[in-house]
Amino acid sequence: MLEAAGALARRYPFLRFASIGKSVMGRDILTAAIGSGQNEVFYNAAHHANEWITTPVLMRFLAEYAKAYAEGGTIFGEDARRLYSQTTLYLAPMINPDGVDLVTGAVRSGGYYDNARKIAEAYGGVPFPSGWKANIEGIDLNLQYPAGWEKAGDIKRALGYISPAPRDYAGTRPLEAPEARAVYEFTRRHRFSLTLSYHTQGEVIYWKYGDRTPANAGKLAKAFERVSGYKPEDAPPASANAGYKDWFVEEYGRPGFTIEAGEGKSPLPASRLEIIYRKNLGILTLGLYAATRVF
Ligand SMILES: [Zn+2]
Repeated sequence: MLEAAGALARRYPFLRFASIGKSVMGRDILTAAIGSGQNEVFYNAAHHANEWITTPVLMRFLAEYAKAYAEGGTIFGEDARRLYSQTTLYLAPMINPDGVDLVTGAVRSGGYYDNARKIAEAYGGVPFPSGWKANIEGIDLNLQYPAGWEKAGDIKRALGYISPAPRDYAGTRPLEAPEARAVYEFTRRHRFSLTLSYHTQGEVIYWKYGDRTPANAGKLAKAFERVSGYKPEDAPPASANAGYKDWFVEEYGRPGFTIEAGEGKSPLPASRLEIIYRKNLGILTLGLYAATRVF
């Protein structure tokens, strides 16, 4: 992702890249910003290591949107320069860089790797490293946010996730993992009108979280369905707490969505990128202005 970000930064100087914090292994958690508008939105991806295909989905969108803006063109039928002047989009395409490196084989030795392999051996039913979702220390980053965190931990402990694990371990406290804390603090420094969190898979959209779910969230999910074919659904009860979307909705009462992209068993092969991107282009474009219009 770093190389792709560097190439885009050179080609499109109006893009602003920043690091919002470091992973356990000291990798930068990068954000890209595009646009000058007052309406701020936030798209993130790859909280889960073996869902890394969501990273190139966001990078591809950034590249196409930047190109459309530079050329005075359109994206998904929308005037890119108008979108740019109305909205500032922040992208965090890879929340879990260490975990992604583990799953893709970029990290295959050293102390962190050995520790992860030991963790995986203790949870023998999960293939290693392909089944790894957590950060490199075995904390599931999408079970780290302070919205129903106790409940999420209770549910996962009852399912046997009682210690650092390849997936589903909520940690000893919310925001214990530096990656989740970085995203949390970044969010608090902004006033996002809408967030999209990309995961795989199932081609569904989760949009609800408790009493603070805004009145328009269901309608926005329907609008996303119309441009993607993805179905609005309730999250399965075992995964319905402590996620980024859950915290965003509870904290701000504004629309936050989990987009479960693609179908099949994670990690989805890179060959699926094109079709996943095509299906999500409408959601990614609509998300730029959805919260500012009445649906
Ligand atoms: Zn996920």
